[in-house]
Order: sequence, then C-alpha cells, then structure tokens
Amino acid sequence: LSVSARAVRTESGAVGGAALGYTDITDLMRALQVKNEFIALVSHELRTPLTSIVGYTQLLEDDAELSDLARRQVAAVQRNAERLRRLVADLLDVAQYDAGAVGFARDPIDLVAVVRDTVEAVERTAEEAGVAMSAALPETMVVVGDGQRIAQVVDNLVSNAVKYTLSGGAVQVRLAADDGQAVLEVADTGLGIHPSDVAQLFNRFFRSREAESRAIAGAGLGLSIAKDIVEGHGGRIEVESELGQGSVFRVRLPAGA
Ligand code: ADP
Repeated sequence: LSVSARAVRTESGAVGGAALGYTDITDLMRALQVKNEFIALVSHELRTPLTSIVGYTQLLEDDAELSDLARRQVAAVQRNAERLRRLVADLLDVAQYDAGAVGFARDPIDLVAVVRDTVEAVERTAEEAGVAMSAALPETMVVVGDGQRIAQVVDNLVSNAVKYTLSGGAVQVRLAADDGQAVLEVADTGLGIHPSDVAQLFNRFFRSREAESRAIAGAGLGLSIAKDIVEGHGGRIEVESELGQGSVFRVRLPAGA
C-alpha cells in the first residue's frame, strides 16, 4: 500500500485539514518482482553458452595455421563475446541488487593498489583511443569493504572516462584523503554531459544523448551498479560535468584500517 498526504488549506491559507490518499501497489510490486526474476533467469541461461564461445575462440586463436583474415574474424568474435559476457554479468548484478540480495565483504583494502591495477589494465585501450592517462596517488590509502566490488567501480569510472573522451584528450585519476574519507576523482576532457541528463545518469539503463547520438556502445548499467556498490559501502558518488569540456566523477568512501 502506498499512502500520500497533503494539507488542505482554508481561503485564508491556514491549514484546515488533511487529505489522505491510498493506492494499492501490490500489482506493481509483483510486476517488478517478475521482471527481476526474468532478468536473473535469462542472464543465468546465457552464461553457459557464452563461456563455451569464449573458450573455443581462445582455442582458435592459438591455432598457428590460421590465415590473417580468419585471425581478425576470430578476434571480432572474441571482442563481441566479451561484450556480451559483461552485459550478462551486469544484468545478473542488477537483478541481485534490486532484490536486495547482495552482501559486501568487509576486508581492509589498499585503494591505491586497486586504482593502480585498474589504470594499468585500461592503459592499452586508452593508448589505442589516443587518450593520455595519468594518476596522482598517495603511498597508501585503506578502506574497508569488498575489494572486487570496489575494483568494479574504479574500472567502470576509468573505462567510461576513456570511452567518452575523443582522441587527443586526457584522463586523470586522483586519490586523496579528506575529512576521514577516501576521495577518488576520475577527470576527463571528454564529451561531457548535458545538464538535463546529469540527474538521470545513475539510473538503470540510462544513456546520455551524447552517447546515443555518437553510437558509443553501452547498456547504461555500469554507473547504476557503481552507485549501488558505493552506497552499500556507506559512501557517495557524484558527478560534475560541462558539455563539450569534460566530466569529473567523484567517489567518497569512509576511510578505515
Ligand atoms: P554505459 O557507458 O554502458 O552506457 P554507464 O552506466 O557506465 O553505461 O554510463 C551511463 C551513461 O553516462 C553513459 O551512457 C554516458 O552517456 C554517460 N557517461 C558516463 N561516464 C561518462 C563520462 N566520463 N563522460 C561523459 N558521459 C559519461
């Protein structure tokens, strides 16, 4: 049941009473649950055949007899299978977060190492895209949480920064302590985000008009998952952006040993 209330005012503007509204949202809740279960089921069923495709393309790649053309074709299959694998993993995550079924580990994690590994992993893509990467990191910074999930957030932000920045641009990753918090900033000189898109950026499946009009691949799930993870760690995620100038994504996490 959803209940709404509103004050009823007399002509003079004084509150003379209250109006209460009741709406039965059982059907809506049920529909949302069915949607969630459907996403979880389909994603799960897609996982096994995908694992097989990825495995066989890896075997094919090792075949020394392959012609150059075949090699390029195998590489394309592999790239697309990897994209599908990520999408399926994201969909499974979303179904779990929406069902409230995710628990986070609480381990001490060195955020510096996580950021360094991610930057290194994305560096080749950045180079191919003509985007310069740099990082300003302290010696060490410890947060308590789920290392894999936090790495997923960092990877999403850094990969996005590269993806939405044109050749000749730059991405900088900064990590600093502020008022008992670890503050991670990923800044880019990329496309930026239209002001009216900013409020929806962390919603499931949302993609900005820039991303859509330039046909940049993506499903609009990464940032919504990043928000679930950051907030699940007692932190916050926010963005400052100027269209055509670039964006800064900022994550604040409680620091701790
Ligand atoms: P995806 O990139 O797969 O579409 P995300 O959830 O990671 O999904 O991002 C949601 C949307 O936010 C993107 O489609 C894009 O429009 C916008 N966005 C994210 N990061 C940036 C960025 N660094 N610069 C400009 N736009 C961005």
